[in-house]
Amino acid sequence: MNRVCQSSRRTAGHDGAWPSLICKSGTGLRPVFRLSQAGRLCHVAVLLLLALTAQAADMLVRQDIRLPDLAGYQTLKCDFHMHTVFSDGQVWPTWRVEEAWRDGLDAIALTDHIEYQPKKADLPTNHQRPFELAKGLGAERDLIIIRGAEITKDVPPGHFNALFLTNIVPLVSSNLVEQLEEARKQDAFVFWNHPGWRVKTNEATILPLHNELAAQQLIQGAELYNGDDVYTNVWPWVMHHKLTWIANSDTHTPIDPPLANHAKHRTMTLVFAKERTANGIKEALRAGRTAVWAGDILAGSAELLAPLFAAAVQIAPPHLRNTKNAFVKITNTSDVPFVLTRSGKAGPEKLELPAGKTVLLKIGVAAKQPLPALDYTVDNLLTALNSPLPVTLTVPDTKPGK
Ligand SMILES: [Zn+2]
Ligand SMILES: [Zn+2]
Repeated sequence: MNRVCQSSRRTAGHDGAWPSLICKSGTGLRPVFRLSQAGRLCHVAVLLLLALTAQAADMLVRQDIRLPDLAGYQTLKCDFHMHTVFSDGQVWPTWRVEEAWRDGLDAIALTDHIEYQPKKADLPTNHQRPFELAKGLGAERDLIIIRGAEITKDVPPGHFNALFLTNIVPLVSSNLVEQLEEARKQDAFVFWNHPGWRVKTNEATILPLHNELAAQQLIQGAELYNGDDVYTNVWPWVMHHKLTWIANSDTHTPIDPPLANHAKHRTMTLVFAKERTANGIKEALRAGRTAVWAGDILAGSAELLAPLFAAAVQIAPPHLRNTKNAFVKITNTSDVPFVLTRSGKAGPEKLELPAGKTVLLKIGVAAKQPLPALDYTVDNLLTALNSPLPVTLTVPDTKPGK
């Protein structure tokens, strides 16, 4: 008896379909009790697989990003810049939803180029379509999908993303200012993309026009990071104009495998929002409540980074004090590894708090003395270019001798 049993498993794909399993039998009409040993084993295996697949069909797994919320604000992980086959990207819009959900994000914006559709011979220009294709799956995954578009002019002035658009079509124009005014009419949030792109040093060419657009709030933010690139001369410019700090992947390819220098997470913007909705994100972007996370660098204002660090790091009272030392456990509950350099007198000169791990610290202090304050700077939390966040690690005291 020559039976063929094949199973094929299709993971959630371009159409957002759930996994399915198909078994083909070469002699499907034969009753089961007349199967050979091999055939019986095959069917048992299929039944088991069917049972497992039925479970899988009800359940998807994602890698959460552990970052604490701040008082009054939820910390939302967002990527506001990516492409699909509707411009020069390589994936269907729903695949961006699957990737983002898998990567632990809260929100994405699909931002295909308005002026550049290299695939239009195969896929006619349809600016509204990527969002429409993605929004249903976004709702299923509880992922916020934002309708966006990339205004794509020569460099300089360059490219600009408009988020929260209701209709992209009226933005089709050769005149940048007209496009930005239309975006404003639609109550959009606009930021300058990859400002140092196509410049060898990644130093952006900042024109009087950029200053003018910032002054008129026609652009309200700028990318400090885009994928693996950082634009150092844009940092002081953004701070001078009080623009919102943004960082995104700008992915064109499937996002798995991860980018070379960001094996653990994609470049993203953290948004501190009053509510986990598109409007909540818009309000926070307008108010400048963001931080940018690229590689191990997390950058934002001290008002946001200080409470974030304090909420992420738990310091236990000493579990042992002897005549010379106190022994203390410090736990970093977040997914950001912290690297600290001592700025005061107590504690080790370098202190590393790896993501999600506990560090045991021996602090030199006589038994009857109060515990010293541990003053440090967190080298990878930046409040401006080359400005690490100062922190004081306060160890809760226990009575000496205990
Ligand atoms: Zn661009
Ligand atoms: Zn882009």
